[in-house]
Amino acid sequence: MEHIDPEVMKRFDTRSSRPCEFCKELDPQFQIRATVDQMVATSRKATASAHLTEDGYVRHRILELRQMTARAPLTAA
Ligand SMILES: [Zn+2]
Repeated sequence: MEHIDPEVMKRFDTRSSRPCEFCKELDPQFQIRATVDQMVATSRKATASAHLTEDGYVRHRILELRQMTARAPLTAA
């Protein structure tokens, strides 16, 4: 019994994508994202633009910005 949603499978290919390491590490809500929003293209580094979806891209950018903001007071001091 397979429980794979054919609609999801149409939108991305699991052989050419993988979960984003960056988001996986930094986003506490990573596991509740839609699977396709977790994925980056296998051939790319774990960057925002490697994400397969707009939502994945935006979430990645938010995490990057949050990191930069968190670091700012330390580097300024
Ligand atoms: Zn990411």
